[in-house]
Amino acid sequence: MPDAKPKTELQKALEKLGLRRDIDLALHLPLRYEDETRIVKLIDVRDSTPVQIEATVTHQEVTYRPRRQLIVTVDDGTDTCTLRFFSFYGSQQKALAVGNKVRVRGEVKGGFLGRTMLHPTFKAAGGDLPTALTPVYPTVAGLPQAYLRKAVLSGLARADLSDTFAPGDLEWLQHRSPQKGQKPLWTLRDALQFLHHPTPDVSIDTLMDHSHPAWQRLKAEELLAQQISQLQSRRERASLKAPQLQAEEGGTLHARLLAALPFGLTNAQQRVGEEIARDMARRIPMHRLLQGDVGAGKTVVAALAAAICMDAGWQCALMAPTEILAEQHFRKLLGWLEPLGITTAWLTGTQKAKERRAMLALIESGEAQLVVGTHAIIQDKVKFKNLALAIIDEQHRFGVAQRLALRNKLHHEDMEPHLLMMTATPIPRTLAMSYYADLDVSTLDELPPGRTPIVTKVVNDARRDEVIERIRAQISQGRQVYWVCPLIEESEALDLTNATQTHADLAEALQGATRADGQPVLIGLLHSRMHVDDKKAVMGAFTAGLMSVLVSTTVIEVGVDVPNASLMVIEHAERFGLSQLHQLRGRVGRGAAASACVLLYSTGDAPRLGEAARERLKAMAETNDGFEIARRDLEIRGPGEFLGARQSGEAMLRFADLATDTELLDWAKVEAPMLLDTYPHLAAKHVARWLGGKAEFLKA
Ligand code: ADP
Ligand code: MG
Repeated sequence: MPDAKPKTELQKALEKLGLRRDIDLALHLPLRYEDETRIVKLIDVRDSTPVQIEATVTHQEVTYRPRRQLIVTVDDGTDTCTLRFFSFYGSQQKALAVGNKVRVRGEVKGGFLGRTMLHPTFKAAGGDLPTALTPVYPTVAGLPQAYLRKAVLSGLARADLSDTFAPGDLEWLQHRSPQKGQKPLWTLRDALQFLHHPTPDVSIDTLMDHSHPAWQRLKAEELLAQQISQLQSRRERASLKAPQLQAEEGGTLHARLLAALPFGLTNAQQRVGEEIARDMARRIPMHRLLQGDVGAGKTVVAALAAAICMDAGWQCALMAPTEILAEQHFRKLLGWLEPLGITTAWLTGTQKAKERRAMLALIESGEAQLVVGTHAIIQDKVKFKNLALAIIDEQHRFGVAQRLALRNKLHHEDMEPHLLMMTATPIPRTLAMSYYADLDVSTLDELPPGRTPIVTKVVNDARRDEVIERIRAQISQGRQVYWVCPLIEESEALDLTNATQTHADLAEALQGATRADGQPVLIGLLHSRMHVDDKKAVMGAFTAGLMSVLVSTTVIEVGVDVPNASLMVIEHAERFGLSQLHQLRGRVGRGAAASACVLLYSTGDAPRLGEAARERLKAMAETNDGFEIARRDLEIRGPGEFLGARQSGEAMLRFADLATDTELLDWAKVEAPMLLDTYPHLAAKHVARWLGGKAEFLKA
């Protein structure tokens, strides 16, 4: 740290950025640069470019309309420019007194009233100009650039930057890189020193788009670290043992389940089923992600995998993130497997003690071949007789620790169970590879036949009455409707009042609605604060078709399956994220009936919706394809937010892009095993340098 006694607040902020070691600081690269090496003349300034000028103050005043502001005019002999400050101190007014010569840096806008700069930085004119561009680093609140610059500088000076591979290894790049004629071979040290303090003659574009040879070196380094680490985890996993679960021919549970299903498998289900079966037939633990759009039919794939496991005489566990979802799986699997003579146990946190004890006994004795439940499954008290397959539904809702806990539930001879993770939030393949060290991916890219595509309409909240008419029409046809209430992040209590109010309003608006079968029209309410028994009762009534409309907060978000539901209304859709909207929409369109999704939006007091919200709703109306949605989500939000804050901290790739840096990736794929086998100590140093403590974490 630059100061003798670093302040803990600053240190905390540094840690938030993952900057603990000297090398972390050295590898914390600028987002952009500011050119303070030059003073330009106002007459030469293009609109909207950040510049530095030296000029004399010719006028100063404080005005109060439309709001309090300090207005200063400066003149550099070629032109004048107005500086505007909406917040300012007396000391700044003094420094900008008429007649003073100042050095001002900011973005010049050429408006109707002449050139202006809003909140520029300034100091007295004169003094040395720096010889390198000034780096601007990614930072967090409470960590000023100036402090971060010093910290990076000292990290850079102290870190061990010796090369783990020779610059010559990248010689081939020289012939392909667009910067021919530049310094050809960069060591890590040179590259870092340059990128932190580039000379002003460099083309800024090559720094910003990472095509500069110094960047190429860093991206090669990073990709190499990723490849070595993936190779290590693959090798490590290959050295682990798992029960070999061989799919048998004929007469088995697997075959009987397949025969008993009321439908045939789609080609995609068949294909991923085989991929999974192949993995489980090996003696090393499966580590596979099954991704498929909402409604693609992941559950039956999981059930068939479970059947193979049980055929081989081992236990299988299925864990889901919410009780409603777990219960739904339980019912579905029970319906399929109980007639075939399978005993299934059920575990949740809200279970009565007596029932729970009975379940634990079934699991420990091995009598229950299948265990379905929530997080309750991973508790210490739960002892499996012989768990060989662990299935995690909606895996992104679980943390690494929970996945690990499940893997530790098999105690036989150093073995680990096979792990199948499922998600309806598809991760673009390249992103999956950069976030998980070692993961095989299966994709269900086909929906079961007979589904009519969901029609999505984006509707202004002012036209709520029309929506209510639509609901009435659906009810009269015997169909069912979801109404999802707005998400109010700050307050769960507000969420609740809101849902309760909407429920009351809807009940009133729908008075006199009738059902084709003459049954009374019931309108239910579901929210997260309800007692679990009440939730189950409401959900049960809706699933059984007794209830026509279900008003709900977002608790129905994942997994519920009521094929008769044909209309989904999402209120304040502008407040939801894209993947969440897609998940919600996936609750309808599960049967043969034509289904629709209405995205109600409200702009509040604003004249129109914000850019990102508009993009999201537009994407929803334009496509039903979860992969396309994921791609657009990534575009709108960027990878960090896309995977959620927790996971973005684990990202392996900060600089390289798997989609575009393919040549470097190919190189790293060849280099990784070579380095690992020939110079293991260099490989270890390389991985430690780039991934620090993250490497272990990434394997889970
Ligand atoms: P998800 O992938 O979202 O978990 P589910 O497993 O809940 O999807 O399946 C959605 C619905 O489609 C369920 O009602 C399921 O029984 C049904 N289904 C699954 N596979 C098929 C198939 N091959 N043909 C017809 N219906 C299917
Ligand atoms: Mg599901």
